[in-house]
Amino acid sequence: MRLSKIHVNTLREVPGEAEIPSHVWLLRAGMIRKTVSGVYSFMTLGWRTVRKIEQIVREEMDAAGAQEISTSPVQPAELWHESGRWGVYGPELWRLKDRHGREFALGPTAEEVFTDIVRGEIDSYRQLPRNLYQIQLKYRDEARPRYGLMRSREFIMKDAYSFDRDRAGLDESYLAMREAYTKVFTRCGLEFRPVAADSGPIGGKDSEEFIAFGEYGESDVLYCGACEFAATSEEAATVDAPAQMEEAERPLEAVSTPDTKTIDAVAAFLGLPKEKTLKALLFQIYDEKEDGTYIIKEYVAAFVRGDRELNMVKLRNALGGVAEHLIEFADEVSMGEATGSVGGFTGPVGLHDCRIVADSEVPGLRNLCAGALREDTHYIHVNYGRDWTADIVTDLKLVRAGDACPVCGAPLNIARGIEVGQIFKLGTKYSEALHAVYTDESQQEQLIVMGCYGIGVTRTMAAIVEQHHDDDGIIWPLAVAPFHVIICAVKYAVDEEVRRVSDEIYRELQAEGVEVLLDDRDERPGVKFKDADMIGIPLRITVGKRAAEGVVEYKKRSEQEREEVTVDEAVARAVAAVKESKE
Ligand code: ATP
Ligand code: MG
Repeated sequence: MRLSKIHVNTLREVPGEAEIPSHVWLLRAGMIRKTVSGVYSFMTLGWRTVRKIEQIVREEMDAAGAQEISTSPVQPAELWHESGRWGVYGPELWRLKDRHGREFALGPTAEEVFTDIVRGEIDSYRQLPRNLYQIQLKYRDEARPRYGLMRSREFIMKDAYSFDRDRAGLDESYLAMREAYTKVFTRCGLEFRPVAADSGPIGGKDSEEFIAFGEYGESDVLYCGACEFAATSEEAATVDAPAQMEEAERPLEAVSTPDTKTIDAVAAFLGLPKEKTLKALLFQIYDEKEDGTYIIKEYVAAFVRGDRELNMVKLRNALGGVAEHLIEFADEVSMGEATGSVGGFTGPVGLHDCRIVADSEVPGLRNLCAGALREDTHYIHVNYGRDWTADIVTDLKLVRAGDACPVCGAPLNIARGIEVGQIFKLGTKYSEALHAVYTDESQQEQLIVMGCYGIGVTRTMAAIVEQHHDDDGIIWPLAVAPFHVIICAVKYAVDEEVRRVSDEIYRELQAEGVEVLLDDRDERPGVKFKDADMIGIPLRITVGKRAAEGVVEYKKRSEQEREEVTVDEAVARAVAAVKESKE
């Protein structure tokens, strides 16, 4: 295509709202435009890249035996009631009503819709296994849409659902998807790693996230240098500190600790290591009523060793899977009235009328310092079993870099990353709820065993830019670039030789199936080079002064080096590079 004709509008200034490189460059290169917070339009160049990523996804899904279908993002509330998720999903679910008052959701994911299709269309074991997928706009009314395509309210997702006769079948389907995902993200030019993950509101037990490394990602990945262990910080199991059973229990004692509302303050005041203190975190949990209002259902006090941080996902799971929007930090005054807690001075001894959850290492610790439920007072020598017990004891800790690997014990490393995909073994959660069954060889009715598999197509696009850019703009990998080659034709409008050679290269490359952009605009060379760099076309051929001799300049966007070569050589190199990228 000729650049003078295509709709591309690059920006000289960094848009105020953009904080991270992918957001900045996708806006500045004119690939995306904001419609409203968390909702974007894709312009010509941006849309070409979206379609390339989709095509890679499609090819690998098809190769893995999945079949593409298309469903509507408009999903009837009834299906969500049937699965029990209408209440659980919370304000992220984008709800709407039709003129008759009937309720719908704009799909954030489509387990219900796919299970509904399959229960209507599959009845025999002969029809299984099946893996159906779609590439579709998804809607999530995120609390904090940000970072452009990274966390938006409308985004493109590929979602696939596998339907198997049994667990062994599911294991096979899951592995096939795991392999397909590895191929997809490799072809997209990403550095990534599959890691063990929490399954969140989707449900089910086994799950992995595909994390692309990037400093602006919102996931923390713990990984071991010595073995294969890798998990998100939400999921990573922790290793407890050794129990201190040999330490003699000393008598419980109340001590005056004025103005020591934090662990740091009380540890410093009493001259204790933080490991000898107990940290209290107080929450209130809500029930959602039929009319959509919320009432406080119960209070929860969670205790971890003083130097530890609480992992909220683990706490919510420990409490039986409390939805994210139904738990928040407790109001000090009302919780105090109900349970005896005192802000900054809350400990487990004497606490009442609330659920007490203790981290798994806490019962093994001896003679701890904890709040005494009185202003400016702490207890010392608090011992589990003797002075207090918990309703639930389980792993609640956030893993930190340097903590021991739960598999081999070596110190863990931490890296930031972007979740570009996730795969789940759902089991029979949805087939049970929606009664999706088949008859087996002996005419018995069986539940269909399901898996589900998502890829954030537009988030993947952002992740690619995060990993492939410099101070001048985007550096697209060839496989996802909007065009493979840009011809920068210097003085195209006035120099006949330049025009002749540029047009010739343009035609030849097109004939070879190379996607080529000809910068035929009446602009200064500096402007052309700046734009070419910003939009990140991987290969650049500059036609200028030596056009008449048949000599042009060949340059890769990813390298500084530029070389003068003959026209034939330039064409041959570009054709070879594109061919290689497709292998
Ligand atoms: P997150 O933890 O980042 O909110 P999620 O785990 O809720 O994501 P999934 O339900 O696993 O997301 O959705 C599948 C994929 O869709 C994710 O791996 C991600 O790539 C993409 N995705 C999810 N939410 C968004 C969003 N708000 N904007 C862009 N892409 C998203
Ligand atoms: Mg996920």
